[in-house]
Amino acid sequence: MDCIFCKIANGEIPATKVYEDETVVAFNDLEPQAPTHILVIPKQHITSAADISAENSAVIAHIFEVIAQLSKELDMKDGFRVVNNCGDSAGQTVKHIHFHLMSGRAFTWPAG
Ligand code: 5GP
Ligand code: ZN
Repeated sequence: MDCIFCKIANGEIPATKVYEDETVVAFNDLEPQAPTHILVIPKQHITSAADISAENSAVIAHIFEVIAQLSKELDMKDGFRVVNNCGDSAGQTVKHIHFHLMSGRAFTWPAG
């Protein structure tokens, strides 16, 4: 499968990884939208949040454990934002589920 995030997960494409275990990898976004902008992905290919099911949701729960851990390790004590874009109208450009973990500035709400 020609998926850029599968290739980052298996090391075919380089990325600055900030966390990795058996099922999850986190790496710096190529075009950061905040001083800290990390993408957290499952190593297994899940296309989008609309494809989460009872069979694959354990890794999604684990991703949120990793996010909490990273928020402490990277000292995001002032807060952080987690974003998932699902589908074209939400702006999902890479069709491998990923969670944006952003910190280091104030964020407005509602998101545009
Ligand atoms: P989306 O728009 O799908 O929610 O987010 C995709 C994100 O992936 C964007 O923030 C974009 O900058 C990032 N991205 C796209 N290609 C690459 C890449 O090859 N390496 C890294 N590190 N980030 C990428
Ligand atoms: Zn993939």
